[in-house]
Amino acid sequence: MTVKQLKKAIDVLGYDNDVFERLKRPDRVLEVSIPVRMDDGSLRVFVGYRSQHNNALGPYKGGTRYHPNVTKDDVVALSMLMTWKCSVTGLPYGGGKGGVIVNPKELSKGELERLSRGYFRAIAPIVGPEKDIPAPDIFTDPQIMAWFMDEFSAIKGYNVPGVVTAKPLEIWGSPGRIYSTGYGVAITAREACNKLGIPIGDARVVVQGYGNAGYYTAKFLHEMGAKIIAVSDIEGGIVNEDGLNPDSLLEHVQKTGTVVGYSGAKKTITNEELLLLETDILVPAAVEGVITGANADKVKAKVIIEAANGPTTPEADEILFKKNIMVVPDIIASAGGVIVSYFEWVQNLQGFPWSEEDVKKRLEQYIVSAFEKAYKAHQDKDIDMRTAAYVIAVDRVVRAMKIRGWI
Ligand code: NAD
Repeated sequence: MTVKQLKKAIDVLGYDNDVFERLKRPDRVLEVSIPVRMDDGSLRVFVGYRSQHNNALGPYKGGTRYHPNVTKDDVVALSMLMTWKCSVTGLPYGGGKGGVIVNPKELSKGELERLSRGYFRAIAPIVGPEKDIPAPDIFTDPQIMAWFMDEFSAIKGYNVPGVVTAKPLEIWGSPGRIYSTGYGVAITAREACNKLGIPIGDARVVVQGYGNAGYYTAKFLHEMGAKIIAVSDIEGGIVNEDGLNPDSLLEHVQKTGTVVGYSGAKKTITNEELLLLETDILVPAAVEGVITGANADKVKAKVIIEAANGPTTPEADEILFKKNIMVVPDIIASAGGVIVSYFEWVQNLQGFPWSEEDVKKRLEQYIVSAFEKAYKAHQDKDIDMRTAAYVIAVDRVVRAMKIRGWI
């Protein structure tokens, strides 16, 4: 999917095949073995990766995933996606991604710490504040970032806070990082509604997934006056046409582990039904590939804001474009996290912490600017918003590569 999308953007831009050949592969992929002494005395050797796709615009940047299904190919594809996400949002970064094949839920805290320190020790030669700056992704969190930073600092012999982002606030983390993705998604939704003539205060919203991205998206859209009429998680979905309260729903989720059974809901539905509800804004904030050639035709939302990575397949994109349903792609809509990661890195390099207000204000500027650029390209070239975002992203990288003499 990622390579296909790259080819489409290169064709729109009129660049030749050399550009495609240069960008369709990562600059470097490191595979590492991570021996970990388990609590029972046995030794387990885990496998990890770090893919560095392109650094024409700045150091590689991207999360680290801990998951049993991690593959080298996925990590490479995700590192390419990070190149475009950093480029379209105007950050001085290239794209990277890491992963370890592990189910972290099966490890004790001590085993998880030894694995995390071992992984970072193994990739230490290729990371650093000026080289490659990891961050969290699926099943990694600020505690793991703290171990990464501490291990790297021990190797160097001095504190290196700028080597990872999304650290805890106690050790050079940034205010606002925790809700940054959802805040960015909500701002993107507001901007898209603005273009479509839907006042955000009157908008109805459906959110799939009620984790970090889904909850904060619902919370900030609710604060803007929009009505959250349905949400779901892996267990199923709930509906209340009069509006759900995101915070009281979160309390229910924290107690029971799911949105299902919430007292403020009027109806329970499946995840498949949820995607087809009559709504203004649909926010897929769970997993990839949920809007496909099989259901896109039945989607009734006016705009789709991609909080999840890759929730819409290319077949669905074509159908939605013909139906005039705007899809704001993940590389813009869910960029809030990497944008605030950038702010954290800047604060770390300068040793100058910012206020939460500064972080929110600047995050809004970056997201609005990326949305506006993509919207203009979408209108000028009569292409869908995803292709428009890719065209901007790829062009910025190619221009930097050309001027540096790489192609
Ligand atoms: P999370 O683990 O906090 O929450 C995931 C939510 O999705 C949970 O409510 C879970 O029950 C639900 N879910 C899982 N499988 C589902 C399924 N098959 N159907 C319906 N719901 C399902 O994860 P998150 O951090 O909120 O990430 C969600 C998505 O957003 C991912 O695609 C992630 O890559 C993307 N994203 C997150 C961030 C971030 O900063 N958190 C940044 C960029 C992109």
